[in-house]
Amino acid sequence: MKLSKLYYICMGSLLFAFTSCGNDWLNLEPSTSVETETSIKILSDVEFTLNGIYSDMQSSDAYSGRLVYYGDVRGDDMQAVSLSKRTGDYYNYGHTKDNGPSSHWLNLYSFIQNCNLILNNIDKIDATGQEEYRDDLKGQALAIRGMALFDLTRIFGYPYTKDNGASLGVPIVKNSEGIASKPSRNTVAECYTQIISDLTSAVSMLNGKFTKGKINKWAAMTLLSRVYLYKGDNTNALAMAEDAIEGAEGKGWQLWSHDDYPYAWAEDASSAAPGEVLFEIVNTTTDSPGKESMGYLNSKSGYDDMCITTSFYALLLEDPDDIRLKLLSFDGSKYAYVFKYQPQEGEVIQDANIPLIRLAETYLNASEAAVKLGDNEKAVKYLDPIVKRANPNNTVQGKTLTLEDVLNERRKELVAEGHRAFDLLRNGMSVNRYDVPNSKIKSTKHFSKNLDFDWDFYRIVLPIPKAEMDTNPNMVQNPGY
Ligand code: CA
Repeated sequence: MKLSKLYYICMGSLLFAFTSCGNDWLNLEPSTSVETETSIKILSDVEFTLNGIYSDMQSSDAYSGRLVYYGDVRGDDMQAVSLSKRTGDYYNYGHTKDNGPSSHWLNLYSFIQNCNLILNNIDKIDATGQEEYRDDLKGQALAIRGMALFDLTRIFGYPYTKDNGASLGVPIVKNSEGIASKPSRNTVAECYTQIISDLTSAVSMLNGKFTKGKINKWAAMTLLSRVYLYKGDNTNALAMAEDAIEGAEGKGWQLWSHDDYPYAWAEDASSAAPGEVLFEIVNTTTDSPGKESMGYLNSKSGYDDMCITTSFYALLLEDPDDIRLKLLSFDGSKYAYVFKYQPQEGEVIQDANIPLIRLAETYLNASEAAVKLGDNEKAVKYLDPIVKRANPNNTVQGKTLTLEDVLNERRKELVAEGHRAFDLLRNGMSVNRYDVPNSKIKSTKHFSKNLDFDWDFYRIVLPIPKAEMDTNPNMVQNPGY
């Protein structure tokens, strides 16, 4: 039974990879030897399995859609265009224990299971002469497993900072059977220990080179700095972000320029010009996540599903020369959309790549950690490039920064990239939704019942999916549901 389940899951990944491969790195010869735990025999089997994971991550139910917009429409800077839209129940915190989505749970545990398949077998492979290649593959599997567990923990578990991680997170699953092994939940603190362990190991193994569509050392370091921030470990958050900036810039990554910023999102990054995206989901015309993807949802010529709020628009308008205003596209005087999910050359909007981790975040992580540590010099050092890039006439040099300064800059910079609700809640702040009168975007109004709440609101975490509750006797539902 164990093997047949694995076979099913692996074949699912393989079929997806076969039928949807349009990227060069997916165009590998089909391998028939990756369907069971015992058949990862050579490093190319590992790479093939990893490619299947990346391909599954590309789904609009995963990182081309839901796993990203979750953090946006549940905050105060973006909202659903209407409650009947795809993002409506997320925005409205409308899920119950009977209708909560299962896709977050199933997708993320599927990534973890396939990473486990690699991690539980890779050290048995003779990699003589190929140690760096082996280590990089292992580093990718560790980084993806850490990322998936982090996303599960922040979606289903309360913020670490609420109770020092004492409440329930999600099961830590390291076997190859996955969630079917009917595990019980670990605490949030135990999950963070595992996430930090995986990402720390990943950082030590990844080689730091550019590889299109693959998670690299600098992305793993930025993610780890984010995890430390969520945990309230500001010393490590700052150190990790600083190392990531130095390392990435030493290898050619750099912040996009002021002039390029409105258009750089459409660029196809390459090793010659890696730009500022450290990890992205690569979508193409022949390998597209389809119309449920971020590009299509964030456009009036697409599904027109989510838009910015009037309060966020007012914040960004505080400086009418902020370059980031140029990313807004307007539906007349009704709604404004964030045009970050720009199609690459020759593509349509649903084929837009999904930047998941950007160097701008690394700077913002460093600045936030520094301001919390009372290190104003470094808070300024890392915030200033983001402020200046948005408007070269602005600077924070000579200023004493507050946490609010840093978080407001983070809002402006990372809107529509899945951060805001988490950023508020992990900082113990309220999600406070309100309409700004006389906004240019006249039709944009809040219609959620949930307009002002903090981490004491039980629905800030999703319910454990009903199917999991029904089939796993060891599973415990989140309180309140
Ligand atoms: Ca693309």
